Amino acid sequence: MLTPQEIEEIRREFPILAREVSGKGMVYLDNTATSQTPLSVVDEIHRIYTTSKANVHRGVHTLSQEMTDLQEQSREKIRKYINADSREEVIFTRGTTEAINLVASSFGSRFKRGDEIILTVMEHHANIVPWQLLRDRTGIVLRVVNINDLGELDLNEYASLFNERTVMASFCHVSNVLGTINPVKEMIATAHSHGVPVLIDGAQASPHLRIDVKDLDCDFYVFSAHKMYGPTGIGVLYGKKRWLEEMPPYQGGGEMIAKVTFEHTTYAELPFKFEAGTPDFVGIAAFSKAIDFIENIGIENIADHEHLLMEYTQERMMKIPEMRIFGTAPHKSAVISFLVGRSHPYDLGLLLDKQGVEVRTGHHCAMPLMDRLDIPGTVRASYAVYNTFEEADTFLKALTRAAAILE
Ligand code: PLP
Repeated sequence: MLTPQEIEEIRREFPILAREVSGKGMVYLDNTATSQTPLSVVDEIHRIYTTSKANVHRGVHTLSQEMTDLQEQSREKIRKYINADSREEVIFTRGTTEAINLVASSFGSRFKRGDEIILTVMEHHANIVPWQLLRDRTGIVLRVVNINDLGELDLNEYASLFNERTVMASFCHVSNVLGTINPVKEMIATAHSHGVPVLIDGAQASPHLRIDVKDLDCDFYVFSAHKMYGPTGIGVLYGKKRWLEEMPPYQGGGEMIAKVTFEHTTYAELPFKFEAGTPDFVGIAAFSKAIDFIENIGIENIADHEHLLMEYTQERMMKIPEMRIFGTAPHKSAVISFLVGRSHPYDLGLLLDKQGVEVRTGHHCAMPLMDRLDIPGTVRASYAVYNTFEEADTFLKALTRAAAILE
């Protein structure tokens, strides 16, 4: 378990945590949307821009070589972090969203009218809309798994949806609204027993859980750096090599080719076949420092600390009259979505902001889940490793006041 002293040391890496909002010390509880970035990452971005910036993979000159090495070292660090077999299976994208669009568009080009894809009702729009775009192009059918009252997937329904037309299953590892940690390893095994490949949206899992793509045996796994203490605009698509080799390119341009004539183009080897154009190589290089940050603390220590904070907070929130918490699965990450009585989430969010507490309000890019819960939106508080029990108390006090004002 991390001690208060260790958390204090960690907090010193995040100068933004010392700022004020509405004249009060800020409590940042919007970590599900994006986490803050430690100095080690910011310093690396600054170092590269001031000493080493040059485009990757194009030059023989020293700076270009240095930059290429930094980018590829980062790829290797991420490969190790998720336990992928080879660097060819680690594709850099702009984020989780682009990674899912890549798979839906490229892998999805093999699907035909009437083929079925299994999603769940708790998906983020990033794991719904790309499949709908594919549906509109090809006539595939989307099947959706429901949840129970705790916010857990109905695994019987999931298993019953597989049939000879099922070609893909795509679901989140952790829900960004309910916090539910889905039993993805078992769900992947179920899909594979029907010969169906699986994409896991790991956007909310990668900052909190150890990801082992080999142990999970997933076909694709996607996540974003900005939720993992890393830079914005960087994401990762892990794919099994056999699929990536078969898949057509997603975008065309520089870097992804072997030879181009006006008559014909041959493509670069993996992973570059899927990395058209100049990537955010500075961000990619700096992402490796975010991985170091997580590894130095230990992902299990991070998860334990966040879990204690979540339990502490949830228990006390339940004492506030008319409190409703959405997502109470025993196996959940440190996300608390809630409503108080008939107060509008937006009003609660504003009153919390006036007290320096930054939470997210709205549908959280999960409108089908809001429909399932029969609510317009929630207020969502979520923890990261740098949050403290004092901050939890500040939040609880601010929430109690806000709830009383809106009563
Ligand atoms: N999937 C889930 C579960 C998310 O929570 C998010 C972002 O909140 C995304 C996908 C999209 O991530 P990004 O905006 O980084 O592409």
